[in-house]
Amino acid sequence: MSSLLESYAAITGPDVIDHLRQLAESLRGTKVVHVNSTRIGGGVAEILEKLAPLSNELGLDTSWEVISGGEEFYQCTKSMHNGLQGNRVQINAALLAAYEQANEANAEILREKLSEADFVFIHDPQPAGLLAHCPNRRGKWVWRCHIDASHPYRPVWKYLRKMVDRYDASIFSLPAFAQPLQHPQYIIPPSIDPLSDKNIELSQEEVNRVRAEFDLDPARPLLVQVSRFDRFKDPVGVIQAYRLAKKFIPSLQLVLAGGGASDDPEGDIVLAEAREMANNDPDVHILLLAPDAHRTINALQRAADIVLQKSTKEGFGLTVTEAMWKSKPVIGGDTGGIRLQVINYHTGFLVHTPEGAALRIRYLLRQKTRMQEMGIKGKEYARENFLLTRHLREYLTLMVGLRHKDEYRIELN
Ligand code: UDP
Repeated sequence: MSSLLESYAAITGPDVIDHLRQLAESLRGTKVVHVNSTRIGGGVAEILEKLAPLSNELGLDTSWEVISGGEEFYQCTKSMHNGLQGNRVQINAALLAAYEQANEANAEILREKLSEADFVFIHDPQPAGLLAHCPNRRGKWVWRCHIDASHPYRPVWKYLRKMVDRYDASIFSLPAFAQPLQHPQYIIPPSIDPLSDKNIELSQEEVNRVRAEFDLDPARPLLVQVSRFDRFKDPVGVIQAYRLAKKFIPSLQLVLAGGGASDDPEGDIVLAEAREMANNDPDVHILLLAPDAHRTINALQRAADIVLQKSTKEGFGLTVTEAMWKSKPVIGGDTGGIRLQVINYHTGFLVHTPEGAALRIRYLLRQKTRMQEMGIKGKEYARENFLLTRHLREYLTLMVGLRHKDEYRIELN
């Protein structure tokens, strides 16, 4: 057994690792390529960083490629993202042309590798156009949608669907996101890596150091939301909720920790909106963190009394899993992947408005035992459902299934 995999056995139990090895046996040497559009920032990069090396440890030949484009390309793909999540966006012909050109240019670079791969996983809309430029592909191509596509803006989905329909399969995070498509669709929720810097146990000294670094008072209650500055994450709503709760709990502090993803051109505008709403309140700490500030985020989540993820749309919300793994109750927007994780009244609360969030903040801060119970349940729920090992198992199962599609049964040695 290899060392990286072995280290997960302490958390998941050895059977889980044996199962992975058994599944991977028939996939030894299989060439797998994952493609997305950012190496750092956001949940997809977070996942691929570990999924790829772990599957290599299991004997697959996995690589992770990142496409790039110009400003208009990112404007277009951000609009597609917003459109998939239901916004009535207008994407003009020039932006669509930039999207198509960027996909063509990236295909020039990646064509050989993609065409030779046994499996290609294309993450989200940004690289979805690559397939059209690899006419001699030999492997199965899977479109992996991380976005809450439950109610897409039709013109955007119509455009994307033409590309996506040509894939061999697609993966969504929740059944509610699946769309009518001409190929099989699979449901695979994302996961966190319990051994990464973002999630590993930290000493109390390290948590205290980070508290001190950001002038957070350990004696006062702390709310934390970690998110890109994106309107769907509703940072403004978080500050409103904090302000409503603070009327009753004057000692309350809030951290909004974020940074940019290199494929997100709207971040600065949303950050400015959050700063305006914070209005120089010394107890609202808006932190712009470096993309590799994983331990800092880990410490902030551990320092929190309650973690918020007040999104209005959420493909999954790794930050919710990260918080649950740290035994924190989560107050989350009643939407998308947050619903899958926050079991209302058990691992946290689902809310629709800043008022609702404020009510739950006040309730929990007065019920410390309840907070602890929710935290314990959250950690177990995350362990059972949202760790990397489960995620990897489902990818392996999917590959075995796609390869043996027409056979009556699959023999595992
Ligand atoms: N994240 C980070 N730095 C930031 C903001 C977010 O490292 O400034 C991480 C966060 O901890 C989580 C991921 O990026 O692991 C965000 O994933 P999520 O599914 O919550 O949201 P997405 O950004 O993919 O919409």
